[in-house]
Amino acid sequence: NWNTKKCAGCGVALQVENAARPGFVPEAAREREPIICQRCFRIKHYNDASSVAIDQDDFLRLLGGIGSTNSLVVHIVDLFDFEGSMISGLQRFVGNNPVLLVVNKIDLLPKVTNWNRLRNWVQKQAKAGGLRVVDVVLCSARRNIGFDRVVEAIGQLRGDRDVYVVGATNVGKSTLVNRLIADYSDLRRELTVSRYPGTTLDAISIPLDDGRSIIDMPGIVYKSRLSEIVPRETLHALLPDKPLKPLTYQFYEKQTLFFGGLARFDFTAGERQSFTAYLSSGIPVHRTKQERADELYDNHRGEMLAPPSREELADMPPLVRHNLRIPPGGPKDVFVSGLGWIKANGSTGAVVDVYAPKGVKVLLRDCIL
Ligand code: GDP
Repeated sequence: NWNTKKCAGCGVALQVENAARPGFVPEAAREREPIICQRCFRIKHYNDASSVAIDQDDFLRLLGGIGSTNSLVVHIVDLFDFEGSMISGLQRFVGNNPVLLVVNKIDLLPKVTNWNRLRNWVQKQAKAGGLRVVDVVLCSARRNIGFDRVVEAIGQLRGDRDVYVVGATNVGKSTLVNRLIADYSDLRRELTVSRYPGTTLDAISIPLDDGRSIIDMPGIVYKSRLSEIVPRETLHALLPDKPLKPLTYQFYEKQTLFFGGLARFDFTAGERQSFTAYLSSGIPVHRTKQERADELYDNHRGEMLAPPSREELADMPPLVRHNLRIPPGGPKDVFVSGLGWIKANGSTGAVVDVYAPKGVKVLLRDCIL
């Protein structure tokens, strides 16, 4: 008799008659102990499915649906991969709904960071990318920094509307939604946080106490991010989990840096100047002369130049060259999506060649720090 049983998650009386009513126990949950209701089941298992990516068209269809709702859209981006994790064309999909930009993983930046300057930078980049945002909040879901501000901003901006949470994979969306649930609903239960891309399948609706919902959209997979195309073992090395330790190199022209076997940076022409690499400490950097670089890569990729291993490299796209001209003036960042960035500190201009796996986004931007 279901009616005498209570959900182990939230305490609601259980039933199996009506899926639209509270306490419904889905088929899959009936044989398990402890027994939990559909709502708790969804929350608990919502990112259990392993490594199935939703295809781009399905994702865009889901996104397009937001335009006809009256809601607040929370767009989570990864500060470490800002240009790589911004959803392109988001403005078109959300219609007139306000967008709150939540910039996660700020714990990765050095302690001395000027946060006001960074917020301005984010605002400027978003605008240049065609996205109107009502507010920008910087936070670290994992280290619990700035999270109060996120909850506060969502509370203020949503009024009595639903909240759609959108983001690319691996930006920390699950970690953040997890915290939102703990904050908003009676279910104080940790969800599984996955390190691997593409683990949330469908949009999951998490009921809020006022009858509205947080709708957690699946993470979109962008193949233009290095983190999406490396093998699993390499992903651990690629995603930083400690504050970035900037590595500064004094360079004459015709010098080269290798980032494991994943990417290569050549200072091809320009006056002597310094470059600072911001990337995960899991990726070893090798310095060499440009004239030796081809040979070094041919002979040592997958071994001295690793990760990835030789076998893993065989499954990755070949490196392609991006020729970038850094104009004289201020410092600029050479950004490689998923890997990090290299700040060109000089003011006299430079010509650089960046080699990255085919399809990975490489660009020049105003410097973030
Ligand atoms: P999702 O794919 O967007 O749902 O992202 P997850 O919540 O699964 O997180 C992806 C990866 O980023 C995991 O390895 C998390 O530990 C990590 N992560 C999440 N939030 C933060 C954060 O604030 N700082 C750092 N450094 N890592 C984070």
